[in-house]
Amino acid sequence: MDGYWVFSGNAECASCAGVSGEYPERPGRPHENCACDIYYVPGDCEWYVSDSQGYPNGDGSFTFDVGVTIECPNGGGQSVDVTVTVEAGDVEIFDEVIMDAAAEAAYQACQECPPEPPNA
Ligand SMILES: [Zn+2]
Repeated sequence: MDGYWVFSGNAECASCAGVSGEYPERPGRPHENCACDIYYVPGDCEWYVSDSQGYPNGDGSFTFDVGVTIECPNGGGQSVDVTVTVEAGDVEIFDEVIMDAAAEAAYQACQECPPEPPNA
C-alpha cells in the first residue's frame, strides 16, 4: 500500500472538519491560521527476489545466494544479499525457504527506508 496524507480537522471548525480524511497528496489548508494536523503515513515496502543462485554442498543441502530488491514507499530503493541454507530435508520446498528468508531480509531493510514522504 502506498503512503498517504491525513488531514485531521478540528471538529469545532466546520470547514476543516468537512475535509478531514486521507489524501494521496499533501492537502492544503482550508483557511488562514488553520492549525489542524496534517501528517504523512508511510506506506509499505515492495520487494522481490531479483537474483537467486544455488550451490550443492555435497551433503544434500544447498546454499543459495539470494538478492532482494526493496522499493521504499517514498520511491527510494535498495538491494540486500542474503545467504540461505536449504537443508536436505527441505529441498522440495526450497522456494518457500528462500521466500521466507527474503521476506525477513526485506522487512529488516524496510526499517531503513527514510520516513519522509515523496517530494517532501
Ligand atoms: Zn483547520
